[in-house]
Amino acid sequence: MKPARFAYVAPDSIEDVLDALDRFGDEAKVLSGGQSLVPMMNFRLARPEVIVDIGRVGGLDGMSVVNGSLTVGARVIHARLEAPTGAMPDGRTEPLGGVLGSLLPEVARFVGHLPIRARGTFGGSIAHADPAAEWCILARTLDAEMVALRRGGERVIAAADFFETVFTTALEPEELLAAVHLPILGDDWRAGFCEFSRRAGDFAVVAAMTAVRLDPATGAISEARIGVGGVAGVPVRLPAAEATLVGEVPGAEVHAAAAEVAAGEVDPAGDLHGSAAYRRDLVRAMVARALAQGAGAPG
Ligand SMILES: Cc1cc2nc3c(=O)[nH]c(=O)nc-3n(C[C@H](O)[C@H](O)[C@H](O)COP(=O)(O)OP(=O)(O)OC[C@H]3O[C@@H](n4cnc5c(N)ncnc54)[C@H](O)[C@@H]3O)c2cc1C
Repeated sequence: MKPARFAYVAPDSIEDVLDALDRFGDEAKVLSGGQSLVPMMNFRLARPEVIVDIGRVGGLDGMSVVNGSLTVGARVIHARLEAPTGAMPDGRTEPLGGVLGSLLPEVARFVGHLPIRARGTFGGSIAHADPAAEWCILARTLDAEMVALRRGGERVIAAADFFETVFTTALEPEELLAAVHLPILGDDWRAGFCEFSRRAGDFAVVAAMTAVRLDPATGAISEARIGVGGVAGVPVRLPAAEATLVGEVPGAEVHAAAAEVAAGEVDPAGDLHGSAAYRRDLVRAMVARALAQGAGAPG
């Protein structure tokens, strides 16, 4: 099918984008990489009156390291996160090292296929808010902050408040997602990501991300984060499973115990990709594997 008729504007500055969004309100949709919006328009699941193409706008595709965060511009394509770099405070651009520098490429390779990763954008994925999207799970697990601009203003939205339900975020129609702040995990963190999809490149049926902080003196976990996608309308954190990890030294038994709690903590619905019980089993397996990966063990 072809999309319903729409008007098209392609501003070349952020100010003009914000003016257009202010003017057209919920009749308008931002077009970024088009890898989700265009198929939805072709299937007539989305029928915007006006498309505001942000592809010509400068200033939205930078990555920089500031105050312990990596700021990822909304127009950064997925492929750039396969080998992330960041502008450092002294102006030099360097490969991003550390835990986040390893985690981003590990996650990026699961986002669709190469042509999708070459066009689709980080911000587009976050704004689209598919509950199984890898970047949404990462944002929720790491407590990312989303920077939303509107004419005459800016606000920062915590990931916990940003994802509201399937394909729905806290962004207002007149707001542009400009960037996302991701905390740079220190060297005392260990992170892992694991997903199950029916075919390589498909959206995950279930995906899990884990991040644990180790006490350098004892090797025990002092802080834990477990985020899961594919089990609810938004990516979720699993606080009961996180709590079982704190105070423990990472290892297969500890991971299995946390994964068991995680499986009991989710309440997925069944669909054509798998029953509720199957998804719960996948949560158990994905959480255990992500924890093992983070600990440097085979999953
Ligand atoms: C075959 C196929 C497989 C895929 N597999 C995966 C996968 O495994 N994992 C995954 O995560 N994704 C997958 N995708 C989706 C892909 O990652 C998209 O790139 C992403 O979901 C949207 O990014 P985009 O830049 O293409 O956004 P667009 O399609 O342009 O926009 C998506 C939505 O976000 C809004 N939007 C975009 N940018 C902004 C902004 N800056 N501010 C406000 N609103 C904005 C748009 O208005 C629209 O509603 C797949 C897509 C296809 C076609």
